[in-house]
Amino acid sequence: MAERMLQFTHLPQQTPKKREVTERRADFDEIYKRFDVQSAAAQASRCSQCGIPFCSIHCPLSNNIPDWLKLTAEGRLEEAYEISAATNTFPEICGRICPQDRLCEGNCVIEKGFESVTIGAVERYITDTAFEKGWVKPIAPAQQRPESIGIIGAGPAGLACAEAMRSRGYHVTVYDRYDRAGGLLIYGIPNFKLEKDIVLRRWQWLRDGGIEFVLGADIGGNVPFAELREQHEAILIATGVYQPREIAGPGSGLPGIVRALDFLITSNRKGLGDTVPEFDSGLLNAAGKNVVVIGGGDTAMDCVRTAIRQEAKSVTCLYRRDRQNMPGSLREVSNAEDEGVVFDWLAAPEAFLGDNCVTGVRATRMHLGLPDASGRQSVDPIAGSSYTVPADLVIKALGFDPEDVPTAFNEPELKVTGWGTLKVDPRTFMTNLPGVFAAGDIVRGASLVVWGIRDGRDAAAAMHRYVQANAMAHAAE
Ligand SMILES: Cc1cc2nc3c(=O)[nH]c(=O)nc-3n(C[C@H](O)[C@H](O)[C@H](O)COP(=O)(O)OP(=O)(O)OC[C@H]3O[C@@H](n4cnc5c(N)ncnc54)[C@H](O)[C@@H]3O)c2cc1C
Ligand code: SF4
Repeated sequence: MAERMLQFTHLPQQTPKKREVTERRADFDEIYKRFDVQSAAAQASRCSQCGIPFCSIHCPLSNNIPDWLKLTAEGRLEEAYEISAATNTFPEICGRICPQDRLCEGNCVIEKGFESVTIGAVERYITDTAFEKGWVKPIAPAQQRPESIGIIGAGPAGLACAEAMRSRGYHVTVYDRYDRAGGLLIYGIPNFKLEKDIVLRRWQWLRDGGIEFVLGADIGGNVPFAELREQHEAILIATGVYQPREIAGPGSGLPGIVRALDFLITSNRKGLGDTVPEFDSGLLNAAGKNVVVIGGGDTAMDCVRTAIRQEAKSVTCLYRRDRQNMPGSLREVSNAEDEGVVFDWLAAPEAFLGDNCVTGVRATRMHLGLPDASGRQSVDPIAGSSYTVPADLVIKALGFDPEDVPTAFNEPELKVTGWGTLKVDPRTFMTNLPGVFAAGDIVRGASLVVWGIRDGRDAAAAMHRYVQANAMAHAAE
């Protein structure tokens, strides 16, 4: 069937169609349409099946990409799904929101002369089809084990670990302080990148597989951490990073200056049909306002595009470096530009203006200097370059740091790194507390969904080894 592959020489790259800007600005639905069966097969057939698959090497999950592309090209979709699901707990989610340009697709060999294979879109197509066709079966462990595992945090890292432990036969309980599972998948990332039905469908799948969810359980708050340690053989902490970086400066405490995640959670809750007084009161609603978002990462991109959909009067993104140096995915920056966001590059806030509420941001022009030891160019203000951007709503999207987990969990012995992330043995994922493991953003710092999944799966393998070793030691006593 080799003749079905290597079609890149004459078949151009085609991504799934994007909905028209005017249409997508008016709702929160995903902006990309889906491949149909012919386009998925045709695009998969562009793969060159190269000897060293750099796409797999640069995929954090080491997905067997050339294999499932070939099977898709041959119309053997159920087998493609089996192979894809063997290495990725949530392929349809990664296919939608991985920054493929920096990972698999950015390292596709044909990218050098032709455009890369549309790996993410095919990955998404395979598993969406598998759900429709009923090929996705509930987790069915070959045997049940007596031990129970507690997982704190129902984000991608916690859920991937939960699936992997349940598949090995453990009783698994996932605790989360929110009222829905998914972590940032459900309340952080907006619907236009990842529709919430996709996340809710996976949550239902995990419940159907016998995983128990205890929601509204704030560990260290209404549920003591020590209690969980008594109940479970092993614990995974996968609580993510939620401490927003703040902006100092005159006027930074004015009403109308809000945190990115508060704004995004509110919007996602509204989309899920919840009553959210802060939205209805206008506090966290961009409608009719001049909105200024400060920051240049994915969170900032999600805020500007959410504000556009909420019918803001204007949306400006202030970022102190230039377009080439933005940490956010360039694909999302282009989408934001198309949707009408104004990017004010090389600009940083100096002060926030207004009496009872913010009315503007006084910004200064920046210039990029020489690279420092890390290779990143320094960034300095240009004297006398101040100007004012009108603003009724300012959204701070400067990134996140870890919360103080040892204090929150009343476990002062729990070791953290200099950045406040949890310190784990890189081979065993175990913290310095016996039987307490950690994975995801709380170990890496703010990262990506695909890395959370990878860590959750690897931590599960390590937890399994630990519980088995304990069981054998007890049996030998
Ligand atoms: C706005 C935004 C957009 C993003 N966009 C992308 C993207 O497009 N692509 C991408 O790959 N990545 C993206 N990311 C990053 C990605 O979402 C994270 O890297 C990933 O979700 C981390 O997974 P996690 O499981 O470690 O933590 P999280 O997803 O943060 O989940 C942690 C969970 O732990 C719970 N929790 C925390 N503390 C407690 C406690 N004390 N008790 C009980 N439960 C607790 C939280 O409620 C949460 O549900 C984005 C992040 C943000 C903020
Ligand atoms: S998981 Fe992400 S990086 Fe890996 S193949 Fe899928 S889209 Fe690419």
